[in-house]
Amino acid sequence: MKLWEDKIRRVVPYTPGEQPKRPVIKLNTNECPYPPSPAVQEALDSLDTSDLRLYPDTEATPLADALAEYYGVDPDQIFIGVGSDDVLAMAFMTFFQGEKPILFPDITYSFYDVWAQLFRIPYETVPLDEEFRMTREGYYRENGGVIFPNPNAPTAIAQDLDGIRDILDHNQDVIVIVDEAYVDFSSKPSALALLEEYENLLVVQTFSKSRAMAGMRIGYAFGSPELIRAMKDVKYSFNSYTMNLPAQTAGAAAVRDDAYFQDTVARVIHTREKTAAALKELGFVFPPSDANFLFASHRQKPAREIYEELKKRDIFVRYFDKPRISNYLRITIGTDEQMETLLRQLKQILGEFIAKDTLPSGERPLSS
Ligand SMILES: *Cc1c(COP(=O)(O)O)cnc(C)c1O
Repeated sequence: MKLWEDKIRRVVPYTPGEQPKRPVIKLNTNECPYPPSPAVQEALDSLDTSDLRLYPDTEATPLADALAEYYGVDPDQIFIGVGSDDVLAMAFMTFFQGEKPILFPDITYSFYDVWAQLFRIPYETVPLDEEFRMTREGYYRENGGVIFPNPNAPTAIAQDLDGIRDILDHNQDVIVIVDEAYVDFSSKPSALALLEEYENLLVVQTFSKSRAMAGMRIGYAFGSPELIRAMKDVKYSFNSYTMNLPAQTAGAAAVRDDAYFQDTVARVIHTREKTAAALKELGFVFPPSDANFLFASHRQKPAREIYEELKKRDIFVRYFDKPRISNYLRITIGTDEQMETLLRQLKQILGEFIAKDTLPSGERPLSS
């Protein structure tokens, strides 16, 4: 063994969904099937490249101002990062400093345990209940911080403000982070409504899903000025110039086109509900979705087999070979046309079962 080998930090990295090089129907990473607002194209077209000589604004002021105006908060309550993964990583580094374990659900965004390991933060997971709902009581014990997505991923289940308030009330001495990557697709409100009441609350959102800009890498957090200041201090101790000028300009343009944003979200939700009804007919069970994906299990055919069959047909969905969820598929909502292709292929793959299935459609239980 080389003596320097024990000087190397070893981590097991997060595994992102595949980004295939050839054209496929890509329903595996929860991207938006529609382009961003035409205002984004215009902003990029009118960019003067001579401005690229200069370092970008470290505070991403054009974007921070647009977000502050849109969400009705002060710019000093906003932290901006290069995707919400960047924001979340900074938040882990800034707020999870104690000896006690941080808490998050056992089934959740699989980056949390990766960051905890990278930053050497102890953690414990809190099991979701049988129907994949978060249990508030699980967060009543002593801890070093709390993080959960709402709606949760990959379950697509959201909790209401009462549930979040309850977790905040029981965790006044630590920072509580609500990761709202999917909140724009949800029937439940954003925890932003609780910001004035709880100085220890951080709400994280992203442009990658509802704003159709995963490729631009924009994420942001809302919190009390004290929390935001602390995050900025950590960020400026690491790398000040992370968000480039085109991203700042394009992001601001996207936020200002609210009509387009609302329309895009409504289209995805409409397709989601149509797809949900059709999948039930094919014998799938799943919780009602508050996100831009469905988390579905088939009554008879194992999820892994369906995943592999779909892949052979150039339709990519996400499969997690993990405890409790290994019989589920996470299916991103694409365009109507993409979902029709998916359903057509599923009918072929499930042919024998559909013919045999005499159960009334849409029945639960969820547990597999
Ligand atoms: C997609 C996602 C993110 C990260 O999104 P970015 O592209 O880095 O903004 C964070 N949390 C959850 C739960 C997600 O699903």
